[in-house]
Parts: sequence; structure tokens; C-alpha cells
Amino acid sequence: MTTLTPILTKFWDHPQSWTMATYEDNEGYTALRQALKTDPADLIQATKDSGLRGRGGAGFPTGMKWGFLPPPDGGPRYLVVNADESEPGTCKDIPLLMAAPHFLIEGVAITSFAIGCNHAFIYLRGEVVHVYRRLMRAVEEAYAAGYLGKDILGTGFDLDVTVHAGAGAYICGEETALLDSLEGRRGQPRLKPPFPAVAGLYARPTVVNNVESIASVPAIIKQGAEWFSDMGTEKSQGFGIFSLSGHVKNPGQYEAPLGITLRELLDMAGGMRDPGHPLKFWTPGGSSTPIFTDEHLDVPLDFESVAANGSMLGTRALQIFDDTVSVVRAVSRWTDFYMHESCGKCTPCREGTWWLAQILQRIERGQGTPEDIDKLVDICDNILGRAFCALGDGATSPITSAVKYFREEFEAGCHTPAAELFPPAASTLF
Ligand code: NAD
Repeated sequence: MTTLTPILTKFWDHPQSWTMATYEDNEGYTALRQALKTDPADLIQATKDSGLRGRGGAGFPTGMKWGFLPPPDGGPRYLVVNADESEPGTCKDIPLLMAAPHFLIEGVAITSFAIGCNHAFIYLRGEVVHVYRRLMRAVEEAYAAGYLGKDILGTGFDLDVTVHAGAGAYICGEETALLDSLEGRRGQPRLKPPFPAVAGLYARPTVVNNVESIASVPAIIKQGAEWFSDMGTEKSQGFGIFSLSGHVKNPGQYEAPLGITLRELLDMAGGMRDPGHPLKFWTPGGSSTPIFTDEHLDVPLDFESVAANGSMLGTRALQIFDDTVSVVRAVSRWTDFYMHESCGKCTPCREGTWWLAQILQRIERGQGTPEDIDKLVDICDNILGRAFCALGDGATSPITSAVKYFREEFEAGCHTPAAELFPPAASTLF
């Protein structure tokens, strides 16, 4: 039985968990003191050895990404933290920033020292004004304590941190759209390569990492790469925050080693909200990952096992739906979201998500035609792999997987509205 490993979530129940005083009482900033006495190359190597993989969804090895930076050329290089958490169901970075922002700030300072950066940016989702205030306050505290600014802890290392709030566009979580937005332009993805490591912010070498990835760095530096890599599975090492939402008794953040199963997490979360209504479907990593069903309760939630079962670990946003929910309605709402958030730069995503939304709304109203289901799958096939960035691919995932597991519900949409089959009042979700 896997147990919880509270590290980033350790003192979230403290009444003043977000303050510098609480963080320092919990050994906060001791990893930074240690890191500043270490050769930066050794910090990068420790992160590589730990096996830490990007916690923003894609799971790219963090230390390897840092290692992609070209050798110093005298010009600036940047760290940009992607705090634009917006994937439907994803709700781990924002609670972490509210509850304990200093994990991130300490991680930013260590990472910046490791990669030779003197100016780091935290790009925060625009809608979360309360998080912006909390983060700004924490950054001010860190400057006042000498952990940021000039000559940090007397080591000669200088670091400025700028917190920037976006304007509320999902696409700005895509790392290159984020960089465009940070530079003051309309946020749209750039062609890759070049990857940001080579030409990122202001065309300079830039590391873009997710909040949870950087917040995990202090613990790795303090406790060692082996401590971290001993947790999790062989290729998906360490711990992560699993966010349970939907029809579950105790929704919230469950920090556990990668490889834990939904069955285990549900046990910890008190089970389904209403025992009379069993699990019907769920997302392993937000709505842009193919859905799972009750067949997948024992799939280890690590990158490889989830992929081997046809989905993606993504952001570990476990949205749980019981049998009161219409899968057609759920997929239709998600598709409305992707249509609205498509930046319009590429045709497959801009036009495709619009067509998908029209067909799904028709099926939801019970006015679908027998050809509609094949048309849905065909449009998905034409978006997948042809869109400019991951938004288009992600938009197809819930649709193709829902048709695979619940085709009969889509067929019923040729004659009966979803609202009749699954009265919304009974479900409370979708
Ligand atoms: P990606 O696999 O293209 O890239 C992942 C990271 O690795 C990027 O930082 C990229 O620059 C880097 N990288 C990859 N190959 C590289 C190379 N050869 N050289 C240098 N760097 C390299 O994935 P992505 O498009 O950045 O992200 C997609 C993921 O985002 C999805 O899996 C989804 O789960 C997740 N997502 C998260 C949210 C959220 O709110 N957190 C929202 C939407 C999507």
C-alpha cells in the first residue's frame, strides 16, 4: 500500500503556512545556503540524478533541460516559471502558491544559481489575483531576508525575481506563447525548434519550468538525489501532488510517490461521494488526457504505465465522475473550452475545435445524425499531430477516448438529449 509523502504539502494546515517565519521554522532556505556553497554543475547533476521530470504535464527530465543551455557567452540567461496553471481539473500549483509560496521562491533561487541566471520571472495565471498578492508578499519577504536581491547571503550571487500576471488566456501556459506574452506581445506559440533553452525570452537562453518542478528542487538538494529517486517507479521517480476533484468524498491535494493508483488515492479520499453511484470515468491528467474508466483503477499513476494504457499522466488532475454524469455533456463542455481558448494561429485547431463543438452540441441536444460520430473521430484524426502546439492534440483526447469507451452514449445522442438521459440536477457536475 502506497502512503502519502507530504513534502511540499507538509505544513499546509499551519494557520500561517505561507509566511517566511513558518517556512524557516520548517528548515526553509537551508537548501539555498547549501546550494550557494556547491558548484553549479553539481547542482545540475544532482537534479539529473534525482530523475525529476517536469511536473507541468509533459514530464521532460528537468536536469536535462537545464543541461541544454549553451555555455555562458557573457549575455543574460533566464529562468521562467510557468505558473499559468489552467488545464481543466488542474489545481495543484495554485494551492501550493497560496499555502507555501517559499518552496517555489527557494527553488527559483537555487535553480537560478545552478544555471547562471540573475533575473527570473514567474508568469502567473491572470485570473488568480489573490495568488498574485500572496506571491508578491512572499517575494518581498525573501528580498528583505537577503534570499533574493544583491549579494545573496554574502556569496556575490545576485538575483532579481519578477512576478508577472497574465491576462487570462489558456494558450499562455504553452511555454513559447508564455514567452511572447511576457515580452508584451499577443500570446501565440512559436515554432520549435529553437527550444527556449537555446532562444527563449528576448531570444536568450531560457529555462521554462513548472511551479511544482522548481518547488521540488530544494528538497532534492537538501536530502539528496538518491532520496528522491528512491521514491516512485524506475522511470517516474519521486513524488507529486495528485489533485482529486469531482464526485469524491474528500477532494483535495494528495502528495504521494508516482506510481500510486486511483484505487489507493480514493481510499485515502474517503471513496466516491455517494456509495450508491459508482465511478464511471476519470481523467488521469486533466481534460487534455484521454479519459479512463473503472477498468483503470489499478493503473499505476506514473508516466509509463498511464501511457501504456492509452492516456497520459499529464498534470495528475484526477477528475472523478460517477454514473450520474453524461460523458457526452462532459466532453462537450471541455470542447467548448478548447474552442474558446484556441489562439487561432493554426487552421486545424482553430477550425477543428469549432467543428467538434458544433457536432458535440448537436449530439448533446439529441439531434445528432448517424454520421456524426465518425465525423467527430475523423476531425480528431485531422487535428492530431497537425496542430501548431499541444492545444489541438489535447482537445481531441477526451473525445476519441470517450467514443472508445462510451460509444452507445454518443449513439443515443441521435435521438435523446443528454439532459433526459442524465438529468443535470442529479449529477451536480456537468
Ligand atoms: P513538450 O513535450 O513539447 O515539451 C516539454 C518541455 O521539454 C518543454 O519545456 C520543451 O521546451 C522541452 N523540450 C522538449 N524537447 C526538447 C529538446 N529537444 N531540446 C530542448 N528542450 C526540449 O510539451 P509541451 O508542449 O511543453 O507541454 C505539453 C504538456 O503540457 C501536456 O502534456 C499537458 O499535460 C501539459 N499541459 C499543462 C497545463 C497546465 O495547466 N499545467 C495546461 C495544458 C497542458
